[in-house]
Amino acid sequence: MSISETDTLVIGAGSVGIAVAYYLKKHDPTLDVTLVDCGQPMAFTSAQSGENYRNWWPNPMMRAFTDRSIDLMEEIALESDNFLQMTRRGYVLATRETNIDDHLAELAAGYEGSPDNQIRMHSSGGESYLRATKEDWQNAPNGVDVLTDKTLIKSAFPYFDKEIRSVIHIRRAGMISGQQMGQYMLQEFRVAGGKRLTGKVDHIEKEGGFSVQLDDSAVTVRAALIVNAAGPFVGEITAMLDMDLPIENWIQQKIAFEDTKQAIDRTMPFAIDLDPQQLDWDGDERQLLAEDPDFAWLAEELPGAIHCRPEGGDKGSWVKLGWAYNSASAPVSFTPTFDDQFPEIVLRGAARLNPALRAYYGQLPRNMVHYGGYYTLTKENWPLLGPTGVDGFYLAGALSGYGSMAACASGDLLARHVLGKDLPDYAPMVSPLRYGNPEFVAIMNAQQSRGIL
Ligand SMILES: Cc1cc2nc3c(=O)[nH]c(=O)nc-3n(C[C@H](O)[C@H](O)[C@H](O)COP(=O)(O)OP(=O)(O)OC[C@H]3O[C@@H](n4cnc5c(N)ncnc54)[C@H](O)[C@@H]3O)c2cc1C
Repeated sequence: MSISETDTLVIGAGSVGIAVAYYLKKHDPTLDVTLVDCGQPMAFTSAQSGENYRNWWPNPMMRAFTDRSIDLMEEIALESDNFLQMTRRGYVLATRETNIDDHLAELAAGYEGSPDNQIRMHSSGGESYLRATKEDWQNAPNGVDVLTDKTLIKSAFPYFDKEIRSVIHIRRAGMISGQQMGQYMLQEFRVAGGKRLTGKVDHIEKEGGFSVQLDDSAVTVRAALIVNAAGPFVGEITAMLDMDLPIENWIQQKIAFEDTKQAIDRTMPFAIDLDPQQLDWDGDERQLLAEDPDFAWLAEELPGAIHCRPEGGDKGSWVKLGWAYNSASAPVSFTPTFDDQFPEIVLRGAARLNPALRAYYGQLPRNMVHYGGYYTLTKENWPLLGPTGVDGFYLAGALSGYGSMAACASGDLLARHVLGKDLPDYAPMVSPLRYGNPEFVAIMNAQQSRGIL
């Protein structure tokens, strides 16, 4: 048996654990930090991310938290010559509704208190609406444009369903390469003297500090502090110290394929169809589905928020489609299984907003990739970041469908906690200890939307 010692052990080398390790060394280069993972870095959930970012949230705390993360990603983009391939064409939320008061109320609530994020209405003309013709992030506007003029929508988004009547364009939003960002931070962590171990954490003893057994006790790591960033396995690690976490794991899937029929305009921002829908089956197909108890749900109404985007930049040729409609809790596994029907389901769903995708019905390209992973989330869909009830044991998890974009703010916050530095205003609201906080409970009881896209 070998023994190693460290000040701080970070468990999990996904986007979040790597960001924690990176910011620990950035804030205090003298700190001895070890990052452990049972597999390759960035190979589990973080490899499945859609790699989109946005500062849209129906809640001002979560908006401030993601704004902070985007600030930090922009810092990395500047210092690394945009190694993380950050772009910013925005998120476009489209609906056939003309009454969008609920969406406007969410926007007003989310952007409350943020002077940079004005909401601009375009109900006629549209001369002042800045189109997202360029992908670079440095010259893109802030705030939100709301388009309700039919002619403007048609001219700005000619490829959308002709029935679209309102478009909400979130401007501080776009895409990154999560893989490149992870690689950059890992490299900087190494250069700063950070250490890495490969091994599966399977037992933790609290004895002053911690004694952590890897790989059936082949290796013991003695650590003064632990940050648990084990992604979907964050609950399993916490259970080793006899604690329960208020989390679930939901499988979510995506597909990507080469757009050989050029159905998707390369300049289209990340586009989301907000409306619930019945999938586009022909009469016989619908009848057959409705009669089969296992598949009848496919003939019924499905929720909104299906999304589509070009992949690989202006010169690329791939597209990505996703639809986070699943909300069934599942046991976690390193080899999750996916639904064989998903590619055709997501294609038909996405074709409602982008009718040119119908060209692929029943004939998705052979090189189509079907993948996915877990959204690990709390009931309110806010993360668990900070100290726990166990002295020296910290959490960095439950980042649901926003962990790539929120990794930097999460890493920075955890480093501040560990090193006793100033904390941002949102720290108590994302703390694992918030459930007894009356302010948090009041917000939760009033929350209408969890901001899941
Ligand atoms: C389909 C899908 C699409 C998504 N799209 C987006 C998006 O567009 N934008 C966005 O911001 N986010 C998105 N997300 C969310 C994002 O991918 C996750 O929130 C993020 O990757 C979580 O990172 P993590 O580091 O917490 O977890 P992981 O990447 O899962 O890392 C955890 C690590 O812990 C290791 N580990 C676990 N148990 C042990 C153990 N016992 N011992 C040692 N190591 C262990 C694992 O091997 C793993 O490497 C998406 C997620 C999915 C599933």
